[in-house]
Amino acid sequence: MSGPAHRRITGRLVIATHNPGKLAEMRDLLAPYGIDAISAGELKLKEPDETGMTFRDNARIKAEAAAKAAGLPAFADDSGLMVDALDGAPGIHSARWAGPDRDFRRAMETIEANLKDRGATAPERRKAHFVSALCVAWPDGHVEEFEARVDGTLVWPPRGDKGFGYDPMFLPDGQEYGHLRTFGEMPSEEKHGLPPRGKGLSHRARAFLKLAEACLERA
Ligand code: IMP
Repeated sequence: MSGPAHRRITGRLVIATHNPGKLAEMRDLLAPYGIDAISAGELKLKEPDETGMTFRDNARIKAEAAAKAAGLPAFADDSGLMVDALDGAPGIHSARWAGPDRDFRRAMETIEANLKDRGATAPERRKAHFVSALCVAWPDGHVEEFEARVDGTLVWPPRGDKGFGYDPMFLPDGQEYGHLRTFGEMPSEEKHGLPPRGKGLSHRARAFLKLAEACLERA
């Protein structure tokens, strides 16, 4: 059985982010495929309001706005943390929970306080997952969309000073022996690294692998 035909990405691609960290990560991911990536920031494109109700909606809003403004294919992502015992919060509001100062220690404390309020202290009541939605939009209206997640358990107190956001309280599933590490305790190469060097563990790496398989060819 063959799925629907995917459109290949060739030549120039706008990366629809104004976040330098994300831009660097996306450039690294795209480098092996000979894609000439330029950022929305470099093109001075306006950032659209993220008015969607889902990660997928928001990735599409960002990719479509950039594709239209630049007249080039554009790539955007949206991501966040969903906590089962909090009915999926903070979800699409994951960045907002850190406040205007982007204080993720505070955001993690808010999650912990909410979990305590609900009596969620046992590990099985503390399941959560990160989601990454990726969208490539073309100026003619074609879109390609990919989504992936990584499941885990939230720990307290947070551990590790690597990574960003909620990484220090997220213990990804699938670690079977030795000291179980949070994303905050893993080097980026291990968290996001793609085969053959890494395991493609993170939500973003997993979504990117789907995109690469459908839309990219190694240079
Ligand atoms: P975005 O820029 O709208 O995609 O915001 C995503 C937010 O979700 C970030 O600010 C982080 O708070 C959180 N988040 C997404 N991915 C990760 C991750 O890999 N580790 C930790 N936090 C993440």
